[in-house]
Amino acid sequence: MDPFASPIELLRPDERALVEAARRFGREQVAPAAAQWERTREVPRDAIRAAARHGLTAIEVPKAQGGQGAGFIAKTLIAETLARACMGFAFSLVNTQNVAARIAAQGSAAQIERHLAALIAGERMGGTSLTEPGAGSDFPAIATLARKVPGGWVIDGEKAWLTNAATAETIILYAKTAPDAGAEAIAGFLIDARAPGFERLPAYGLMGGHAIGAGGFRLSGFRVDDDALFYPPDQAFRRALAGINGARTYVAAMCCGMVAEALRVALDYGARRRAFGRRLLDHQGLRWSLADVAAELEAARLLTWRAAVLIERGEDAVLAAALAKKFAVEMAQRRLGQCMQAMGAEGLREEHPFGRHIACARIAGYVDGTTEMQNERIGALLERNYL
Ligand SMILES: Cc1cc2nc3c(=O)[nH]c(=O)nc-3n(C[C@H](O)[C@H](O)[C@H](O)COP(=O)(O)OP(=O)(O)OC[C@H]3O[C@@H](n4cnc5c(N)ncnc54)[C@H](O)[C@@H]3O)c2cc1C
Repeated sequence: MDPFASPIELLRPDERALVEAARRFGREQVAPAAAQWERTREVPRDAIRAAARHGLTAIEVPKAQGGQGAGFIAKTLIAETLARACMGFAFSLVNTQNVAARIAAQGSAAQIERHLAALIAGERMGGTSLTEPGAGSDFPAIATLARKVPGGWVIDGEKAWLTNAATAETIILYAKTAPDAGAEAIAGFLIDARAPGFERLPAYGLMGGHAIGAGGFRLSGFRVDDDALFYPPDQAFRRALAGINGARTYVAAMCCGMVAEALRVALDYGARRRAFGRRLLDHQGLRWSLADVAAELEAARLLTWRAAVLIERGEDAVLAAALAKKFAVEMAQRRLGQCMQAMGAEGLREEHPFGRHIACARIAGYVDGTTEMQNERIGALLERNYL
């Protein structure tokens, strides 16, 4: 596989069809609704069910388990194409598919039976809950406590910043099994948010990113049976972080998607709008400004595709994913405003995606490791890779 070829060439025909279905779904059903979802601060469950009918809640779930059986490159391209329309929706959907894929790959027969089909059908949403009010980047500092009792566990604590917190029924929850212990005491549980002892807290007001449905919840004497244990303490920390390179890579792809769409809208407008007797695009200053956007967009795509190919091949992608996320996030934060500027005042109107995309580029700088955490990761690997 040549990581520098357009990665669409690397896909099987059924994966290409899935990416094409996502592209059409994004253009026809997500883009026209995204501004309304932002206004009402919620995405109707019907939109998730529609995505499910296109296979987008089960991209990586094996075909034998009712999914699409697609690889990571296809997932990356789907993330880019959906984020063109609405990164909040794309992120929410991918988080549900991630839970479905983890359950399919690592769940017990009972867990698969209880959760998988409903997630694939879009009848349930999923979320993965690490962050707490007192612990974000420093994941081992979480304080939610799971106490062993006969036949199960009782969990107490408060979680914060969960994607799909407003809606998710199936949550992979990380908690400590011993107070004041370190990462080795963290276990993963597969919980049902409709059970007693689970209290949803009001979703956050989140300018431009309401489709993510981010918020917190509280667990008070929340009782689960032994078969809710998803990862035992000796595995949970490692398993939780096992998907992080993939997450960094698809967030990078989402940033590329937002900039690609912003550039397309700005070019379309610049080809029609006239000033000083010429099309906007015939003014060299404006054209050069958008040329800068195109150059950095393509550089970010290459970094993202390289990380995606390494992940699909099962090779070490730690550095590649951190480089891709850092560059693509900062590229989007730098360049989206430039596309908006090329539209004049028209770019401010909410029927254009700039406001939502700019807010989501800020969000991309926090999720799945902040830009500072990418710097930490890249910095730790500098001598090994560049000396
Ligand atoms: C919309 C949204 C959705 C999210 N979804 C989820 C989810 O589904 N599940 C989940 O578990 N979490 C989720 N998160 C939380 C996200 O993972 C955290 O925001 C992230 O880990 C950073 O934690 P924090 O915000 O608490 O910042 P902190 O860790 O408090 O950091 C604050 C600032 O200090 C910097 N900093 C911290 N440590 C260092 C250091 N050692 N060196 C230099 N700088 C440092 C950070 O980079 C940041 O700029 C979501 C966040 C957002 C915004």
